[in-house]
Amino acid sequence: MLDTDFFRRWLTLCAGSVEREAPRLTELDAAIGDADHGANLRRGFAAVTAALDRDAPGSPGAVLLLAGRQLIATVGGASGPLYGTLLRSAGKALGDAPEVTPAELAAALREGVTAVAGLGGARPGDKTMLDALEPAVVALAGAPEAFGRAAAAAAEGALATVPMRARKGRASYLGERSMGHQDPGATSSALLVAALAEAERT
Ligand code: ADP
Ligand code: MG
Ligand code: MG
Repeated sequence: MLDTDFFRRWLTLCAGSVEREAPRLTELDAAIGDADHGANLRRGFAAVTAALDRDAPGSPGAVLLLAGRQLIATVGGASGPLYGTLLRSAGKALGDAPEVTPAELAAALREGVTAVAGLGGARPGDKTMLDALEPAVVALAGAPEAFGRAAAAAAEGALATVPMRARKGRASYLGERSMGHQDPGATSSALLVAALAEAERT
């Protein structure tokens, strides 16, 4: 079972990872966007950890709802509403259960990813965060307890964005010139799924 503490740990690990990798995320965004992805997420996840300390949400669903709300409120770029929607939809799906099973988390994340696609209108192959998130939720649907496998699927998905031509977001303005660069959002998504696997080990 995954309790509230597990979810706090997951988001705290996300914040640490985003903090460490912010320069790289911004560098990737400099190549095909506006060079702010690292700064955007660093600001957003700093607000998430501050809110977790301040409000002490009492269930896994409440942790995700709070985190999603903070990302929407503090991240200026496209990734804020998208990641916010991911976490808020997943949080809503978990309801107020004090503990959830990995299968329930897998189903909740599927709802979150579907909501991201609904909001942004992107599909796998469009060179966005969905190229890492979709393979991760597919992996979790098949093996809900294998967080490490989901993390590997997300990392592979992020790498696979390199040759893609962007069809959504700022990078799409570059057309063919977006090819040959890894998508910043897919890269940060892989970090978030890796943090899930890390939360399980700690
Ligand atoms: P902005 O582009 O507004 O500066 P960020 O740099 O924080 O926002 O985030 C850019 C990332 O957001 C992209 O690399 C991509 O993965 C993701 N993204 C942008 N638009 C969409 C969309 N419509 N659907 C899914 N993901 C998107
Ligand atoms: Mg940007
Ligand atoms: Mg921006």
